[in-house]
Amino acid sequence: MSPGNGNQNGGRKGLLERLEAGPVICAEGYLFELERRGYLQAGGFVPEVVLEHPDVVRQLHEEFMRAGSDVVETLTYYGHREKLKVIGKEDLLEPLNRQALQLAKEVAQEHDALFAGDICNTNIFVDGDADSAAAARAMFEEQVAWAVEAGVDFIVAETYSWGQEALIAVDVVKPTGLPIVVTLAIPQGEHTFEGWTAAEACRRLEEAGADVVGLNCLRGPATMLPLLREIRDAVSIHVAGLPVPYRTTDAEQTFFSLTDPQLEGERAARPFPDALDGLACTRIEIADFGREAYDYGIAYIGVCCGAGPHHVRSLAEALGREPEASRYTADMSKHAYLGTDPLVRREYKEDYGRRL
Ligand SMILES: [Zn+2]
Repeated sequence: MSPGNGNQNGGRKGLLERLEAGPVICAEGYLFELERRGYLQAGGFVPEVVLEHPDVVRQLHEEFMRAGSDVVETLTYYGHREKLKVIGKEDLLEPLNRQALQLAKEVAQEHDALFAGDICNTNIFVDGDADSAAAARAMFEEQVAWAVEAGVDFIVAETYSWGQEALIAVDVVKPTGLPIVVTLAIPQGEHTFEGWTAAEACRRLEEAGADVVGLNCLRGPATMLPLLREIRDAVSIHVAGLPVPYRTTDAEQTFFSLTDPQLEGERAARPFPDALDGLACTRIEIADFGREAYDYGIAYIGVCCGAGPHHVRSLAEALGREPEASRYTADMSKHAYLGTDPLVRREYKEDYGRRL
């Protein structure tokens, strides 16, 4: 391994080289997708599935690869000490992290993809509390050490709503020599918890040595893109954008704050996290996001909580790729009623189709 540019295995291109050459697609959203499939509980969102059903995790890694992801991101989001403590299973911390890394590594090697370690918001950091900062640092240190041992190409440090906590993550990763992608989750109101704008927070992260900065989670394309543009204008390094695939608005900027008048009672006021289906972005909207973001110079692009392989495939196609799964991208010329193929019976095209 040659840390510094994430370039392993001789000629294989690392993250930063790939970003220089074009977009890098990173599929995320493992927790929501595995929750929908019945292998993970919403609420705690702890990825015990890594130990309980490793084949299911491997399958999802494969599906995201097949859909066009360039990165296999290790499923250690919320596989950290605080979350495992909350569910009373701190003893699973190391086996879960090592297993998640091994699964991601195997799939990345099979596909010559980038292999990313993952650390995230700790849920214990509080502004002005030095003990909480030290505890967060210790959590990052143990997870980063396992990731380095597994030979990751780079580290993703994600979903920080505290800019200061993200800075601690950079501080922990820098000495490893690995590239670090840091993404913030900006709450309703467009500031980090300590009151920094997204652009200001990213500027500080750039100064601290982050290799890629940007945003992930919480916001859908509509409320993330304007902030991504501000970040792009404010920093000189590569920018990352990984929205949730939900139709957030100026009034309801995050998927926590979204409401759905089609639902009833409490769920109408807060469909998060498991009744958001009616507010989901189509794959077309995700493709549009990818195109707009890349045109503005955002090169590290993906989709976060709520994403399925169909979103990733559309994103990849919008960025000029033809992943394996594109073999099954819609071809309506063969449709029974809407088709144009000469073998589609005329009466169906011209008459019956209009009655459906
Ligand atoms: Zn997310």
